[in-house]
Amino acid sequence: MSGSTYESSPASETTTSTESAAILRIEGLKVHFPTPRGTVKAVDGIDLSIQKGETLGLVGESGCGKSTVARTVVGLVHPTAGRIVLEGREIQGLSAREMRPLREELQMVFQDPYASLNPRMTVASIIGEPFLIHRGQRDADLQICELMSLVGLDPSMRRRYPHEFSGGQRQRIGLARALALDPDVILLDEPVSALDVSVQAQVMNLLDDLKKRLGLTYLFIAHNLAVVRHMSDRVAVMYLGRIVELADRDEIYANPMHPYTEALLSAVPVPDPVIEATRERIRLEGEIPSPTETIVGCPFRARCPKAFDRCATDVPALKEHKQAHWSACHLPEEAS
Ligand code: SF4
Repeated sequence: MSGSTYESSPASETTTSTESAAILRIEGLKVHFPTPRGTVKAVDGIDLSIQKGETLGLVGESGCGKSTVARTVVGLVHPTAGRIVLEGREIQGLSAREMRPLREELQMVFQDPYASLNPRMTVASIIGEPFLIHRGQRDADLQICELMSLVGLDPSMRRRYPHEFSGGQRQRIGLARALALDPDVILLDEPVSALDVSVQAQVMNLLDDLKKRLGLTYLFIAHNLAVVRHMSDRVAVMYLGRIVELADRDEIYANPMHPYTEALLSAVPVPDPVIEATRERIRLEGEIPSPTETIVGCPFRARCPKAFDRCATDVPALKEHKQAHWSACHLPEEAS
């Protein structure tokens, strides 16, 4: 692919032996936005599959396209190309009305617990709204109380308004609302990044507990690698709208293959003060290409400390360089 713009590997290249059991599959997904300055390729050909009961972490810097992936899956953004298959049914590009029955299977929790709750509605109205919209059920008081208990909120507070709750409590309200219709899959878009560190841990533990108790499947989106490590079974790293590395959680944190993942991991603080004082941090120099720029060669080339001649001309495809460990970088091939 010398001299070409980046092309994601075909879905078959990233297919795993367990794909047939995937509850959610994303194939060749592209989300391009036309702007006066050119086309922004927010998502540029990604393939992902999530198994039932799994948590797939999707990590990357702000603006890499990870939230756009989630918003496209739930129908808030229209895809330019690609397929999204939920429990065997293609759902890409469905209208809001067509998506409505799927809300019982697929829900999303947003980053900002302050902005995502209607300040004029009581907590009972917020949590009970899905019952009214999807099932025409006006009196869901019993279910609302059960949902509040499930997420660690006192049901006696259900007549209060969002501003009377802390950030962590508001995120629990959002979670209770997402759980109302008993979904199978929840897309969690930076669900703890707006919270204090101590509250983050509580909400992550709650998410873990709910996943086990209710048999949920998560797509967990975050920029914080420590948070993603705590939550995920597998981790996908995203850069400029593409997946650049994908592996089991322990494998990717112990043996990162892609220079971008190495740099992200080197920035994660280590609790041991001796190791923290001596460990090497990789500082990324260079500019991130403009989102409207046509990229030749490796999209990470301008910032990569390991770039070499081939990176300027050849686009690295996402390949399985080790068992179940995928990377979009030429280095493993050069080393072999
Ligand atoms: Fe760096 Fe080259 Fe690998 Fe891209 S292909 S990440 S520029 S070494």
